[in-house]
Amino acid sequence: MTELNNPKHKYYEDKFEKQEQQYPGIQNKMEPVPDCGEESYKGYNRLEGRKALVTGGDSGIGRAAAIAYAKEGADVAINYLPDEESDAEEVRSVIEAQGRKAVLLPGDLRDENFTRNLVHDAAKALDGLDILVMNAGMQQYQKDVRDITTEQLKDTFTINVFSNVWMMQEALDHLPEGGSVIITTSIQGFSPSDILADYAMTKSAQRSFIISMASQLGEKGIRVNGVAPGPVWTPLQISGGQPPENIPEFGQTTPLERAGQPVELADTYVLLASDSGSYITGQIYGITGGMPIN
Ligand code: NAD
Ligand code: MG
Repeated sequence: MTELNNPKHKYYEDKFEKQEQQYPGIQNKMEPVPDCGEESYKGYNRLEGRKALVTGGDSGIGRAAAIAYAKEGADVAINYLPDEESDAEEVRSVIEAQGRKAVLLPGDLRDENFTRNLVHDAAKALDGLDILVMNAGMQQYQKDVRDITTEQLKDTFTINVFSNVWMMQEALDHLPEGGSVIITTSIQGFSPSDILADYAMTKSAQRSFIISMASQLGEKGIRVNGVAPGPVWTPLQISGGQPPENIPEFGQTTPLERAGQPVELADTYVLLASDSGSYITGQIYGITGGMPIN
């Protein structure tokens, strides 16, 4: 019999300890360590033989997608920043324990040349590319709009928006009919917070990019969708994503009264990548603990 859980109590629901790290943050140093499905995700071979590239695949939501893909039978390349090598090595060992190929491709998505080459490097190392998950993101809160520096503005837009366009352009050399692109946007693209003005703008830009691309690529048989998470316990939030005083009660104002864990998003990334999602394109799936995304 399958377990029936009360979703309010299924994962960590206490207050979080106050904690802060430098961007981009190391998941392994968080307390509690986020659940990315290392033990908790079970695969059913729904992506056997597929080849996926996941940006931000070292930690948080991208790591949950990368692990789920490997457990579903895919070979997986991940991109992350060189400072995140220790998190990335953990993901490598989970993927390899499934008997799947793991390819680590560290580098900075603010660098256009690196970012364009990343797609080709992944396709070469995996011998093809069926699934592209553009998930890396930067979020730095500022309580006063005057404190958003031009550097922060450029970095946030380059990582969250420009890199998506660059990678999409290169990926069209590789994605076959039946290929799938998934972009991690956010509830912030629908209901922006006062302290995340620049970040929220990038997340609405991703929304419209998803819809344009789904419409443009339908005729090629390539699907493009988005996931819009609500508050999920990941390094991004404790590395400048939220003011430290917001961390203890992070996620507790959602209808389910707790933060999400990355593994709770994994099945949606699998569905959108797999053949079961064959009539799903141009859509954005909210996984928010109950907050509406419209
Ligand atoms: P995370 O910190 O685990 O992942 C973000 C990743 O982005 C990092 O691991 C890092 O590898 C990558 N990254 C950042 N800057 C980069 C750069 N310059 N070059 C290359 N890679 C870079 O946090 P997460 O919350 O899992 O974030 C994943 C996505 O989810 C992001 O797009 C974020 O906007 C989105 N999101 C998160 C939440 C949340 O509550 N955690 C909510 C909504 C949306
Ligand atoms: Mg990380």
